[in-house]
Amino acid sequence: MSDFKIEARNRQYHGFSGNEESWEGPYMFVVGTDPQYGMIDTMAGKKDIGWDQEVELTRKAIEAVNAMTPRPKFFVVCGDLVQCTPGEYLRDEQEADFITEFSKLNSEIPLVLVSGNHDVGRIPDAASIACYTERFGDDYYSFWAGGVRFLVLNTQLYDNDSKAKEIRAQHDEWLLKELETMKTSGCKHAVVFQHIPWFLQKPDEEKVYFNIEKEFRLQMLEKFNDAGVKVVFSGHQHQNDGGFYKGLEQVVTSAMGWQQRATDTPGIRIVKVKEEGITHQYYEMDDIPTTIDLKE
Ligand SMILES: [Zn+2]
Repeated sequence: MSDFKIEARNRQYHGFSGNEESWEGPYMFVVGTDPQYGMIDTMAGKKDIGWDQEVELTRKAIEAVNAMTPRPKFFVVCGDLVQCTPGEYLRDEQEADFITEFSKLNSEIPLVLVSGNHDVGRIPDAASIACYTERFGDDYYSFWAGGVRFLVLNTQLYDNDSKAKEIRAQHDEWLLKELETMKTSGCKHAVVFQHIPWFLQKPDEEKVYFNIEKEFRLQMLEKFNDAGVKVVFSGHQHQNDGGFYKGLEQVVTSAMGWQQRATDTPGIRIVKVKEEGITHQYYEMDDIPTTIDLKE
């Protein structure tokens, strides 16, 4: 039996026990993304798909995170939890194993989940989104952690909303309201988690598979910057990347699983949240530090 709990409901996150609205000093959290159970065998062209390698990588990450001092405020997985999309034949098995493995995370470290294209489907609709939300919680929501405001988006609605126009309209309306409220919220910093990055290196780069359409991207980056968003953490590319739009940093983190470049290695990112700003560093699974110096 797993003690996995759905924490995101009614557009809020319920994984913290206390009031998180006030700044109590520096802390750290962990970003992992694209564990994508089943992708390594799929990309290798195997007929009989398993995900032992992804499970092994998750175990390394969770073991390291559980051993960390100070204890991370939370562990966020930025989408593509499993390879199979809603309704695909191994989806249930992959989800079950994801839940089994992530349930091994220290119960005092909340698990924050973001939906990716594999989670809600490439062309999401009400049914495919429900397939994700019933198991993992809301596909978009907001929360406080240690005086910092966090938004979690469903970027697949930006990639293809042809079967989810109404859902996208609700998402966008919610987001604009959140950005507006953020301005006067008194938050120390504002951070966004979204699976697909706005851009990979430059805010005005052309549209490719791994970023978001340019015109809409530039409009939204300006709105984010105006609302005071400092960092956007994403995955999806299976390769580390990133850049700046004015004072806003877009961070693209490589996968906990399959890598785009043979020279890259699966890992996680440690994020330090300090009064003066937010810094971060990617670590390969075998190289994750157990002691984090928040003064550094
Ligand atoms: Zn993806």
